[in-house]
Amino acid sequence: MHAAVAQDLLDPHATPVAAFVDLQGIEQTAAELRAAWPRETEVLHAFAAKANPMVPILALLLRHGLGCEVSSPGELAQARAAGFPMARVVLDSPAKTQAELAVALRDGIALNIDNFEELERVDRLVADGAAAVRVGVRINPQVGIGSIEAMSTAGRTTKFGIAMADPGNRQRLLAAYAARPWLRWVHVHVGSQGIPLELNAAGVAEAVRFAQEVNARRDGQIEGIDIGGGLPVDFSTDGDSPTFADHVAVLRDAAPELFTGGFKVVTEYGRSVMTKNGFIASRVEYTKRTGGRAIALTHAGAQVAARTVFAPKSWPLRVLAYDRHGLPSTAELEVQDVAGPCCFAGDLVARERKLPRLATEDIVVVPDTGAYYFSSPFQYNSLPMPPVFGFEVSDGDVVRFHVLRAAESLDEVVARSGVLPASLR
Ligand SMILES: *Cc1c(COP(=O)(O)O)cnc(C)c1O
Repeated sequence: MHAAVAQDLLDPHATPVAAFVDLQGIEQTAAELRAAWPRETEVLHAFAAKANPMVPILALLLRHGLGCEVSSPGELAQARAAGFPMARVVLDSPAKTQAELAVALRDGIALNIDNFEELERVDRLVADGAAAVRVGVRINPQVGIGSIEAMSTAGRTTKFGIAMADPGNRQRLLAAYAARPWLRWVHVHVGSQGIPLELNAAGVAEAVRFAQEVNARRDGQIEGIDIGGGLPVDFSTDGDSPTFADHVAVLRDAAPELFTGGFKVVTEYGRSVMTKNGFIASRVEYTKRTGGRAIALTHAGAQVAARTVFAPKSWPLRVLAYDRHGLPSTAELEVQDVAGPCCFAGDLVARERKLPRLATEDIVVVPDTGAYYFSSPFQYNSLPMPPVFGFEVSDGDVVRFHVLRAAESLDEVVARSGVLPASLR
């Protein structure tokens, strides 16, 4: 923890909680991702924007050679604001409106169709003269679920894609591709966190098999496979296993044609790109003891760590204790709850966790929060979004900070709270 950061968090006039992004870490992760894939494969790494849709983050990832996968009009607008050329953007989402589909075709955004009804909508746009470049269908390979059901997208009854093992679907989809030479991609995404690499690869292999079946009927129809994301992240240590290279090795075994079959590839990694490159820091505002339990009251709660607070078993996060000078705390270990600022009892980022005994004006750091945490804030209690600082460390250990997102002001909080219309005044 940098001393300047500690000073800032303890300044009673500044925000008591902030998030930090490792700018050099992002560059390194992007380089590792690009290096993990063989040169012979034409691959677009489309970062899953939902993992961290902050415009400056997306812009940096573009600079480091990535594309962008978006799943809503908001994420598409963020990708545009970040400067992505539409040729590097992929649109997913199971509930695209007619208008979103028209925009995607108009702008040459890659489109993954979720279901047969959506396919009919696209048919009508194509019949009306829209060009269908880079259009595919998302299959559900139904290979099974991982350790977090809510994150698993290839179960028997999962809401995404066309279920390949359901009676008749495979033939129906083959016929759909046969009737539409412009359907040239196949999309699969087996799930996000909690999915073993082998299960992920089994789903990808099913997509490749289906692509080969389509190509057996019309040579070369399938131009590429979009293999989704879902490389799991280790939240329990600083390690980053499994790596992108580990994933490629498992894919080579399960789906060798992905590397030799003349297919282009799109990946949609999200969490694995950003998790380790961000952390949250908060001052400890108070400490107390209740029913024998030591409790530290901090400013890092559900508004920046919603998943962990609401589903702590699935999403455990580490908490690191620092003193008021930003040095690792040397206090004696004690079992404690680390609570957030929200007004409900479950607002804890850690329960009964053995940590150096926290004291007022200590600083807690919640690592591994670069994806799906402060970038997807929760508006409960009208808590403002904390500031997000990018940092770079130069050779002499000098740290430079850059504001990536200013702290949300209370005026902004009020502005997003609606207005009594004149008709009701
Ligand atoms: C969420 C999602 C991803 C990214 O998953 P990660 O676990 O963050 O890598 C990729 N593709 C689709 C379709 C998704 O829904």
